[in-house]
Amino acid sequence: MSLLVVGSIALDSVQTPFGSTADALGGSAVFFAASGALLHPVQVVGVVGHDYPMDRLEHLAKRGIDLAGVSQVHGESFRWKGKYSYDLQNRETLETRLGVFAEFAPRIPEQFRDARYVFLGNIDPELQLSVLDQVHEPALVACDTMNYWIQGKHEALMALLRRVDVLLVNDAEARQLSGDWNVYRAARWILKQGPRFVVVKQGEYGAVLVGNDGIFYVPAYPLEQVFDPTGAGDAFAGGFMGHLAASNDTTPANLRRAMVYGSAMGSFAVEEFSVQRFDELTRDQVRERVRAFADLVRFDIPPVPETV
Ligand code: AMP
Repeated sequence: MSLLVVGSIALDSVQTPFGSTADALGGSAVFFAASGALLHPVQVVGVVGHDYPMDRLEHLAKRGIDLAGVSQVHGESFRWKGKYSYDLQNRETLETRLGVFAEFAPRIPEQFRDARYVFLGNIDPELQLSVLDQVHEPALVACDTMNYWIQGKHEALMALLRRVDVLLVNDAEARQLSGDWNVYRAARWILKQGPRFVVVKQGEYGAVLVGNDGIFYVPAYPLEQVFDPTGAGDAFAGGFMGHLAASNDTTPANLRRAMVYGSAMGSFAVEEFSVQRFDELTRDQVRERVRAFADLVRFDIPPVPETV
């Protein structure tokens, strides 16, 4: 059951209260793939410039990531610079240099077009639509977006929503898209536009899955040390989609399980800079953290004492 991601491949320079990185591997497709590949092989489509450290990207290939859809073209790679506040709650973008990403027009290689699970990372919704025109018959399509596209490409985004099964956004994006400050009402509004499910990510407060048949909540893993929140959302998506592809099951009950895998993988991503945490991570460690979630939310309801 092939799993395809299309998104940015970046060089990130990030400052947090705990340190900084320069030109580290980043981008939505990279975080998604590094995370998802722990659960299921991932096919990547993206673009990099002539200056991209291909050896570091190829290092990921050893972990079940197929880079046949990554094209290297002449020009500068996409670079993003960000700085986090002391409590890691706020992020300021210091610089975005699109480079070759500005001309990105995803071409899905023939051997990827039968992908059953497709994740459209945060890129221009017109490009996300063009990807859907190239894949044959996916079982489930999920997508991400951001404020820039909600504001600037509203019509294309609405056309995209009619064609996707799951929208994954953060709470601010859900509010902006719907014009409603209440995230549950915002999610209901989004469901009316097309998707069968909406995942609203709320950072350290967890994430909610809203569908027509109910709401499911998964907490964030209670980490005592968070190092760098960059890419948590894409790592969440990698865990979510990786689990769905590995189990090939799109029932609502399995989407709930996928939420837990998403939250688990997001929690690993923030423990180190860039995708470093996924380097040494084993499937057993992933399984152990998923099991820890079951303990986090398990509780009993004592029987009601009989009244006399
Ligand atoms: P997240 O923390 O989940 O928002 O993802 C951060 C990643 O998104 C970083 O690795 C950046 O390289 C990448 N990124 C930042 N801005 C953009 C953009 N405008 N388009 C695509 N990817 C971006």
